[in-house]
Amino acid sequence: MSQVRVRFAPSPTGPLHIGGVRTALYNYLFARKYNGTFILRIEDTDQVRYVEGAEEYIMEALKWCGIKVDEGIEEGGEYGPYRQSDKKDSYRKYADMLIDRGFAYYAFDTPEELEAMRLKAEKERKMFIYNAAVRESLKNSISLDDVEWNAMLDRGESYVVRFKMPPDEEISFDDLIRGNIVVNTNTLDDKVLFKSDGMPTYHLANIVDDHLMKITHVIRGEEWLPSFPLHVMLYKAFGWETPFFAHLPLILKPDGKGKLSKRDGDRMGFPVFPLYWPYGETARGFREDGYFPEAFVNMLVLLGWNPGTEQEIFSMEELINVFTIERVHKSGSRFDPEKAKWFNHQYLQKKSNNQLALEFREFLRAKGIHVDIVRLEILVGLVKERVSFVREFWDQTDFFFRPPEDYDSEAIRKRWQENTPVMLQELIDVIRGIPDFSPAPAEAAVREWIGKKGYNTGVVMNALRLVVVGALRGPHMFDITSWIGREETIRRIEKGISVIGKQQQ
Ligand code: GLU
Repeated sequence: MSQVRVRFAPSPTGPLHIGGVRTALYNYLFARKYNGTFILRIEDTDQVRYVEGAEEYIMEALKWCGIKVDEGIEEGGEYGPYRQSDKKDSYRKYADMLIDRGFAYYAFDTPEELEAMRLKAEKERKMFIYNAAVRESLKNSISLDDVEWNAMLDRGESYVVRFKMPPDEEISFDDLIRGNIVVNTNTLDDKVLFKSDGMPTYHLANIVDDHLMKITHVIRGEEWLPSFPLHVMLYKAFGWETPFFAHLPLILKPDGKGKLSKRDGDRMGFPVFPLYWPYGETARGFREDGYFPEAFVNMLVLLGWNPGTEQEIFSMEELINVFTIERVHKSGSRFDPEKAKWFNHQYLQKKSNNQLALEFREFLRAKGIHVDIVRLEILVGLVKERVSFVREFWDQTDFFFRPPEDYDSEAIRKRWQENTPVMLQELIDVIRGIPDFSPAPAEAAVREWIGKKGYNTGVVMNALRLVVVGALRGPHMFDITSWIGREETIRRIEKGISVIGKQQQ
């Protein structure tokens, strides 16, 4: 295989959907696997759809995911510019080349005229397709005589350049994922290649740049499958070598019915974009929702590809080794928000307590809580298994930082007995007398006292938990008391006796 060169070619029309990130990821993995080059090309020739901030968003999203661009706007490279609008004047000659060779023509139909024809066809329950069947009856350099259309050009009348799709041809081409595809050209239209605003359309700029940038494999979303025949024909018309093509399946809604959309995420409470989108209609992002980039990438790679084994957790390095286009699925993959959380949970477990403590410390700082990092490491270690996101540490540990403000009434009803205050009062004395208040010795001493007194362990321990935590939740009891310390434990028991005691009277 010649030196692999692949590209991710997004149009900056808004935040990058996770389907787009996955396209970038597969391209990146493929490039790395074959020691090839991964190119980021911004396709912004459609000025109407251009959205401010989208280009930066795309680049930041790739960086966050650990997808490293080899050639691009920031990285440079021999085949630039990598932003199509920066070379907009260079495409005209390719449109002319096709006109000269008889593969394209000028069309002067106004948008209003075309719309009228579309509506007329609709009324007759037909589809208006601008192609060989109707082109002779429309306003273009094929139907009009040469003098007439040349005069129109000279007068500066607005026109577009269209591809001259040949009629009645069965064209056959190969897709690395879907295999052989055959299409009859009668179903295709004379696509616009060059617009009246002097800009190439996506089709022309895309083919020209893939050729000039020596792209060997075009790996892109299946929404481009309908354009595939045209693209193959453009390569033929130019006399250029056609790259290999691979069209990736869609990422589907959780119920499998249709493409995953922002609306699904809004409705069901999950992000469909990698990063928060701050402009106009804002959108939540996986990053801001607390996903680790490695977990996000791992979740994403498996939406449309499988390794052929049971393995689910992959580092980027492993993915580069095992990824193959052959194992990309033909049909769409459902996005499963619970599975996404599961991946984050798995990656969180793999993080060191120190890493987690550092991240949790930031969260606490924002709340005005300052805790020593060593103590935080102990704390995250206690509840790590119960959380999937760093922010969830707070839900599991809030009572470590502040005494309970109220007590779970259901737990009081079930667990608080008449002699509970007496027992807890005694427990205070026991706690005062424990020489080493770390978890194991403290537990041993308390259990010894319970045994000696013949108390019920469950009754004592539930009451202790209730006054220390405020509810019957949290990690091991003596891990909590040791962390908050002897004095704080005693204070909470005293407060509990008095507050709950009063409530019970
Ligand atoms: N600019 C197109 C897009 O926005 C690129 C399609 C392709 O990769 O050919 O997805």
